[in-house]
Amino acid sequence: MSNIQNKVVIITGASSGIGEATAKELASKGAKLVLAARREERLKKLQEVIQNSGGQAIFKVTDVASHGQMEELAEYALKEFGKIDVMVNNAGVMPLSPVHQKKINEWDTMIDVNIKGVLYGIAAVIPSMRERKEGHIINVSSIAGHLVFPASAVYSGTKFAVRSITEGLRIEEASNNIRTTIISPGTITTELLEAISDPELKSAIVEDCKSNGIEPASIARAIGFAIEQPSDVAINEMIVRPTIQEL
Ligand code: NDP
Repeated sequence: MSNIQNKVVIITGASSGIGEATAKELASKGAKLVLAARREERLKKLQEVIQNSGGQAIFKVTDVASHGQMEELAEYALKEFGKIDVMVNNAGVMPLSPVHQKKINEWDTMIDVNIKGVLYGIAAVIPSMRERKEGHIINVSSIAGHLVFPASAVYSGTKFAVRSITEGLRIEEASNNIRTTIISPGTITTELLEAISDPELKSAIVEDCKSNGIEPASIARAIGFAIEQPSDVAINEMIVRPTIQEL
């Protein structure tokens, strides 16, 4: 039996891309899923797809930038399923731009979603995990959390932050038997690039993604691999790139 079977897993950003692929992968291995994002129609459709294939999923419309909504999400999971085994803090945005363009609203959104969203996700699940002395928090960083590219200063800043927050959490919670995993994807074909507001930058990056990107299912499998390890084994960090991606 897979070690994923019957685990209660919350996934943020489940309405598209990596989150959606992860939901399908984990559902196929018997997880009980709590899907979260802002687009209700997408969540409802994904729930139907999972249920039609014999899987279990519920959903809650949630903005990860709201501490209150993230607490409500965790409460909903506890009410419906009685426990939270895994939190996948996957929701993220990437409106890349050079700093001198002063796209302050985009900076604020990246900080709110990519950093505060992850912190609120951790805050919402950590009390019940500490109480049970069991749990797994998986945070999605990026290759941009290891390297800085032109126009990625702020985005990279948020993804470096995800890695340092996760490593700090690992040190603090190891003695409570709580596992942490940082997943750093390379170029993955998803809707992430849609938020880039500079048309030239967007078309260059979209072209690169079209020719080099790999499917979000590759990240879903990596997340599944981390979850299915025996509870005394923690996969703390993974970089998953397309084979042909140089940087
Ligand atoms: P998508 O754009 O396909 O998915 C992003 C998800 O985040 C959507 O489900 C979106 O749902 C959700 N989201 C955005 N803002 C919020 C919010 N405020 N509250 C709740 N959910 C939110 O992109 P990916 O699947 O590629 O992105 C997933 C993660 O992977 C991100 O953290 C991204 O930074 C990271 N990543 C992606 C890479 C890639 O090449 N694609 C490379 C490296 C890392 P909704 O709009 O419905 O709320």
